[in-house]
Amino acid sequence: MDVTIQSNDVDRFIRGLLLYYDVIAPVARDGRFVFERIDDPSMASLKYDTTLLPPIKWIYPNNEILLEFDLKDITKTEVVAQSRKQVLTFVHPCDINAINLMDEVLAEEPSDVNYLTRRQSTLIIGYECLGPCRENILCFDKGYHIAYRGFDLFFTDIGGRYYVHVATDAGRAMVEGDGIFKKAAYDDWKDLMRARAERKKGFNKKAVEGDIGMLSHFLKEAYNADEIWEAEGRKCLSCGACIIVCPTCYCFDAVDEVCPDMEKGVRYRRWDGCQLRGFCKVAGGENFRKSAAERVRHRVFKKEVYLKKRFGRSGCVGCGRCIDSCIAKISIIDIFNRVMERARRNV
Ligand code: SF4
Ligand code: SF4
Repeated sequence: MDVTIQSNDVDRFIRGLLLYYDVIAPVARDGRFVFERIDDPSMASLKYDTTLLPPIKWIYPNNEILLEFDLKDITKTEVVAQSRKQVLTFVHPCDINAINLMDEVLAEEPSDVNYLTRRQSTLIIGYECLGPCRENILCFDKGYHIAYRGFDLFFTDIGGRYYVHVATDAGRAMVEGDGIFKKAAYDDWKDLMRARAERKKGFNKKAVEGDIGMLSHFLKEAYNADEIWEAEGRKCLSCGACIIVCPTCYCFDAVDEVCPDMEKGVRYRRWDGCQLRGFCKVAGGENFRKSAAERVRHRVFKKEVYLKKRFGRSGCVGCGRCIDSCIAKISIIDIFNRVMERARRNV
């Protein structure tokens, strides 16, 4: 069942959601957008470009407590899996695709109970991109500008109203009952088709030149291409901004803190990642990715080679956040293009 909603009824819809859920929505902040918990529909922006942090961070938050322990009796250790009911609203396809991938990655044994618990209590309302939302993105190259699953409702702007694809029972429950939504009619569907034809015209320029399907292969061939990795490594400040903003970076450190009474404590998750110098430091002081060049290469390989090998698709959804956040101006698009160019030269 698909439905429509008039644009000026969206506020009423959000107001209804606020009665039952924590509503997380894109909010304008200092010229950019962030996903925030809102308490009034007027705070939400349906039309926004890529947010500073991706919405998945509401399912995988920093400093989340993972377990509580009792130092006097360690058998009393308890997993803390929190699960407030929340709706992530107006999520772009690239970010939905990132969540889909993380659902698989974090369900692998040993599964991440905290993520999965929070994910189960999270509903997702998608929002269709009818053209590129900003520069420095490569979602179109990867086919991640479209989401086929991973949402409960999916909004498409068809001019003055939204066509809403209802994908799950939870989605159906959100649109039933209050008379805001109408069953989609033939004319609505025709307008949807028209909007999607416009989307095809909007997404017409690839960021990476060449056959993106071969990228993983060409990367492997470029593993020792110092002219790429050493050059990028010289620029990299190892600040970690690129990994913090990435919707498919999930590495973390487990940190224990003990209460001053030395009886109880907590273990929490602190985001961590491969671009930071200390990430690969192991007992004895050895660091198995000492240079920034190795670390930059690892990040690119993790996205485009290792995740692809394991899960059958690229771990870079093309959101461009790492490019926007890098003060050293390291661009994964440029790196991909250099790898492709190298492959063309070597034919
Ligand atoms: S944001 Fe840029 S400078 Fe910082 S670690 Fe990432 S690539 Fe290096
Ligand atoms: S690697 Fe960069 S462009 Fe790709 S998903 Fe992560 S932040 Fe987005």
